[in-house]
Amino acid sequence: MTNHVGYWRDRVDANKRLPCEVRGCPRTRTAGARWCNRHRLRDARFGSPEAFALPRRRLASLSKIASKFLTANSGHPAVTLARRDLDAMLAEGAAHVAARDAWWKPAERDVTGKTAVELKRLHDAGATSLDLLRAALTVHLTACLPPALLERATPEYRHALARAVLMAKPLNKRMILTSRYKPRRIYSRLSTRVLRSLGKTLAVKLCVVLDAMARAIEQQQKAHST
Ligand SMILES: [Zn+2]
Repeated sequence: MTNHVGYWRDRVDANKRLPCEVRGCPRTRTAGARWCNRHRLRDARFGSPEAFALPRRRLASLSKIASKFLTANSGHPAVTLARRDLDAMLAEGAAHVAARDAWWKPAERDVTGKTAVELKRLHDAGATSLDLLRAALTVHLTACLPPALLERATPEYRHALARAVLMAKPLNKRMILTSRYKPRRIYSRLSTRVLRSLGKTLAVKLCVVLDAMARAIEQQQKAHST
């Protein structure tokens, strides 16, 4: 019988001696990853080893533009349709959790369950489909309006889309013990698997309407500046 634990330990040890895959990075790889620890964490958080968090000031100004546009076009059938889709998504998440008993917790790899928990958190905090659509449009505008900070249809874009939507309301907090055994409440982290899968779902669901809205905003801005 082969020794699987020994086999994997050797593979991991060999991997750790290889250089990080990011060009110009001087560090060696971490555990089973293709990157050093810094770039692995960036990949988990932002969808790509070289991605960064979007600058807050830019997001704040684009959020205002998105908000104004959605208010002015609140009766538009495309907006209504997108909102209905997002409302259904929130309700489905809440129903998924409600169908389980009070002690249920999704397993590590249960992406559907974990996503449902996040959607229920948004639902319970009173997030509306308009909040979610505004968050998604804001991220889409960072990719469409110059200077474009994101490239569309990339993992970074989809990660940012899911992150923005899930951050429409504050994350849950959980208790941890610090090194001195003092309990402290910290914000829970968003699961990378959830960001990856929800990002894809949202990109597919919303791409047409987000594109149309971004184009309309671009035209408004052009008309305004001439
Ligand atoms: Zn690296």
